[in-house]
Amino acid sequence: MTPPSPDTETPIRAPSAVPVDDAVLPFEVASLDLRGRLTRLGPALDEILTKHDYPAPVGKLLGEAIVLTTLLGSSLKFDGRFMLQTQTDGPVSFLIVDFQAPDRLRAYARYDAKRLKDGQDSGALLGKGHLAMTIDQGPDMSRYQGLVALDGGSLEDAAHEYFLRSEQIPTKVRLAVGEEWRGGGDGPKHRWRAGGMLLQFLPKAPERARQPDLHPGDAPEGSVTHVVAEDDAWVEGQSLIATVEDIELIDPDLSGERLLYRLFHERGVRVFPPLPLRAKCSCSRDAVSAMLNNFAQKDRAEMVKDGKVVVTCEFCSSVYEFTPQEAGVE
Ligand SMILES: [Zn+2]
Repeated sequence: MTPPSPDTETPIRAPSAVPVDDAVLPFEVASLDLRGRLTRLGPALDEILTKHDYPAPVGKLLGEAIVLTTLLGSSLKFDGRFMLQTQTDGPVSFLIVDFQAPDRLRAYARYDAKRLKDGQDSGALLGKGHLAMTIDQGPDMSRYQGLVALDGGSLEDAAHEYFLRSEQIPTKVRLAVGEEWRGGGDGPKHRWRAGGMLLQFLPKAPERARQPDLHPGDAPEGSVTHVVAEDDAWVEGQSLIATVEDIELIDPDLSGERLLYRLFHERGVRVFPPLPLRAKCSCSRDAVSAMLNNFAQKDRAEMVKDGKVVVTCEFCSSVYEFTPQEAGVE
């Protein structure tokens, strides 16, 4: 999760009037030493969530996790893979988002419909447990896993906790997911949309990025709490991102460039070419077949129902059917 490093030196200077969906837009506010990324998701998010037909609160939570994943995973180089998972005791007990660089996204959630209630926010849906982020940069690189405790807070809170503890980069994250109803010939059509922003303070002098220490916990009584004043540039950056409304993040008629310009024009913002995203599962008949081959003979035999073996991909709901012979059942 290195800071965004735009791979081109050609910024787009004029804000585009045309909104670009399903993309991450890297940007930089050099005068404040701020770097960031803005995600806008439309059709790709809608494809993932609609396939599963989740109840709205579950779809919204998984949408937030997908946006967070794009903000964190889009800085990966080459064929990297970024996975975000939660395992908790709330109504949504498990969710996973899998991002494969440069652009492939897939995700699903497990939930208990009986425990869903009106008015549950993402913190209540998740409950207590942990969030794990795994970065896999290929066979020759070591795998990295970061863990954050979830204690009834939102995914935004968890992301802040992660950056404070693990990366020690001053970071703010905003996530928003919404449902859009558009009129059509055969009645209003439902679509999911989402947006998010990540803002980081990356000054050349590291002492400017110091943050207030974590609570000392069991420090002896009478010890002086270490107070660090935040850098003025970061104070300004935080106050600017705090003004971003959910509606601005998901508005289909407001381009990402216009939103960034609206926020940072007084300080000058450079926007770099967008990185496209798409909903694409990596499952295949061959991969499922190979997985079946790894099962014990007894387990394969138990999977035969009505004379066939049926495997459904949890990510994309694709159904793969095999004859017992094809599935290697003797
Ligand atoms: Zn699949």
